[in-house]
Amino acid sequence: MDHFPVFLALSGRRVLVAGGGDAAVAKLRLLLKTTARITVAAEAVDPLIEGWAAEGRVTLLRRFPEPGDALCCPIAYAAHEDDALDAAALRVMTADGALVNVVDDLARSQFITPAIVDRDPVTIAIGTEGTAPVLARMLKKDLEERLSPALGLLARIGARLRPAAEALPKGAPRRRFWSDWFEEVGPREATEAALEALLDDHLAADSRPGHVDLVGAGPGDPDLLTLAARKALHEADVVIHDALVPQAILELARREATILAAGKRGFGASTPQAEIDALLVEHAAKGAHVVRLKSGDPTVFGRLDEEIAALDAAAISWRVVPGITAASAATAALGQSQTKRGRNGSVRLVTAHDMAGFADQDWRGLAAPGAVAAIYMGKRAARWLQGRLMMHGADPATPVSVVENASQPGQRIVAATLATLPDAVRGVDGPAVLMLGLAPRGAEAASPAPHLGGNTSGEAEGRGQSPLPLEASEA
Ligand code: SAH
Repeated sequence: MDHFPVFLALSGRRVLVAGGGDAAVAKLRLLLKTTARITVAAEAVDPLIEGWAAEGRVTLLRRFPEPGDALCCPIAYAAHEDDALDAAALRVMTADGALVNVVDDLARSQFITPAIVDRDPVTIAIGTEGTAPVLARMLKKDLEERLSPALGLLARIGARLRPAAEALPKGAPRRRFWSDWFEEVGPREATEAALEALLDDHLAADSRPGHVDLVGAGPGDPDLLTLAARKALHEADVVIHDALVPQAILELARREATILAAGKRGFGASTPQAEIDALLVEHAAKGAHVVRLKSGDPTVFGRLDEEIAALDAAAISWRVVPGITAASAATAALGQSQTKRGRNGSVRLVTAHDMAGFADQDWRGLAAPGAVAAIYMGKRAARWLQGRLMMHGADPATPVSVVENASQPGQRIVAATLATLPDAVRGVDGPAVLMLGLAPRGAEAASPAPHLGGNTSGEAEGRGQSPLPLEASEA
């Protein structure tokens, strides 16, 4: 950044414009919006400038600038549109200590006049360091269209009530009040009375208790968040998230929000559940809007009930916002469906381990031909799972697809069978779900998969057009 943007205090200060033609008129139009005392020095001036002089809005010196004219001017313009005249004016005005802009001459200018979006007192200055004035004008047009003409009025009314608004506690309550004014109430009714009424509402509501949203963050792709999850993130004062929630999703939280990691990994370092429960209660009890962000769907292996019980015990209101669970994202990655006529009329979501260790399941059901199950937290239990399933009669050729980092940039599918499963999970470092009974579409054509013999549904399979990047195929 060669040019540092600032807003210059011009109230009661002098600005000199040397030149009286079109360029001078253009700069004067901008300067006349300010409270500066403006002097124009030029032998010949546009009638518009004559008019402004007659109204007393500018002081007119009918001559070329002389030493002393720019004294006490923080800025001055050389606007003759003539190289020699501007060079001479630049010398004189610089000697008086003014920063000089030579109109349309970036190299000789000491400052740039930005493109301005004026919603006084809200002012947006757009600069491109002289590289792309057209772009600056495009941005200006875009912002002009987007910003309500009443914005300045809203800010002025707001400024008058700012001292009264300090009755609201600093931080979230005050922030909520102002965003309600600028986004909701003000655009509808830009009056002091409306702002006073809004303040009364907020003062009354400030004793409002906190609240916890138990939100599903989905499998990791920010596009797979629900709108409700996005909205909750946008409004949260505090976000308490799982280790599996990626940065790209946390970035959707408000910049001022407090973001707390409450990691829990199957076998790694973790935050004890009781501590997480206590954190939720602690922040909500202080009146915060807390988002408890859990990977996937919060109702699937999310220890949701313990958190809800803690909130209920503390009489804190809560809501569950569902998310896309890892099994859904993994199945989508395989190009398959979870249920299929003639193959399976039910799907199981299974965890391979629980607090007590490896988790026992209905092995007979899982081992049955055509059974489909999404096995969560299954990597380390792969060999054990294999043993249990085979012991209960599962076909070793049953497809098992290991889907790692489903929906994320590092997504990887290892197409395996029950027989090869323990090898297939080797080297899988990211979160992975084991899809028992599902092969990637296309890959299944190559697999003997005798246990799928019951497929009499006649559904078209579209074989041969595999949508899947199979990085490793062990089928
Ligand atoms: N509530 C989550 C599950 C939490 S348990 C959900 O609904 O998805 C954590 C397990 O979920 C991980 O061990 C892994 O088996 C699975 N998992 C979570 N995110 C995943 C992802 N993006 N890809 C594959 N598996 C994932």
